[in-house]
Amino acid sequence: MTVSREFLAGMPKAELHVHHVGSASPRIVAELAARHPGSPVPADPAALTEYFKFSDFAHFIEIYLSVVDLIKTPDDIRLLTYQVAREMAEQQNLRYAELTVTPHTSVKRGIAAEAFCEAIEDARVAAEKEFGITLRWIFDIPGESGIPAADETLRIATKIRPEGLVGFGLGGPEIGVPRPQFQPHFEAAIAAGLHSVPHAGETTGPETIWDAVRLLKAERIGHGTSTMQDPALVEYLREHRIPLEVSPTSNIATRAVASYDVHPLRSMVDAGLVVTINSDDPPMFGTDLTNEYVVATKLLDLDEAGAAELAKTAVRVSFADDALKTTLLAEIDTYLGIHGV
Ligand SMILES: [Zn+2]
Repeated sequence: MTVSREFLAGMPKAELHVHHVGSASPRIVAELAARHPGSPVPADPAALTEYFKFSDFAHFIEIYLSVVDLIKTPDDIRLLTYQVAREMAEQQNLRYAELTVTPHTSVKRGIAAEAFCEAIEDARVAAEKEFGITLRWIFDIPGESGIPAADETLRIATKIRPEGLVGFGLGGPEIGVPRPQFQPHFEAAIAAGLHSVPHAGETTGPETIWDAVRLLKAERIGHGTSTMQDPALVEYLREHRIPLEVSPTSNIATRAVASYDVHPLRSMVDAGLVVTINSDDPPMFGTDLTNEYVVATKLLDLDEAGAAELAKTAVRVSFADDALKTTLLAEIDTYLGIHGV
């Protein structure tokens, strides 16, 4: 059974796990590099494709941060956000995206938090008006930067709190970054009405996922790649309907999983877990959401209706309001109708 790339590209989609800076395409990065000469990042889109090849997760973080270094002004933030939204809408028919944004990394580089939030909000409003895509924000703690970064992220999330903010996350490396230290931050964010969506079990075992659900009260798990190693955890996530945000190509690019053949996506679905398909840092991993649907339909042996069901799951477990969910689900049904599915 194969579903055409064209069908998947045109299908209305929602993405729940995709990073703001990590969505900068070679074209956008080249534009930023041209604005700020002297960076190690090439200003030529073709050379960038080479530059985005990683030897391991640590190398990935290093490259990622060199792109972060190109973002020096609020106008860079606005440009990045607006262009990312445009490419999502025009190239992949994304109708809704929860972008994981890491304000701390820009604030640390001298952009005021208020100006940062204003820039992403300007871009969000413009993108919705011009491209019809709805953006929401998840502000995540860069785990490797520890408690000061967590304090600052919480402050920005709860005190400035841009209108599009819906969730609070935790990213970066997992090894050597104990999760319990962030429990107070998640408690405060949840008390302020934000949803908890930490990364967990991407590069470490099931214990990190247990920490995410028990201590950080995760409503969805970013990655959860090691879930299947612990039957009790599988049962817990299944029973509580806690979705996994799965990004197959990312897992292979960062060497978290050796190959598509051994990716746990199929076993997650077979075990009755709720999964969503995501692209994580698409241009850096040479992918996009459409391609992740191509991969997922192959790994799960799905037809068009099955692929649409994955897209609907993403809408249902998103933090969009009910009216928008209804609209997006109807759009997917209409698309199926047009294609005679
Ligand atoms: Zn991620």
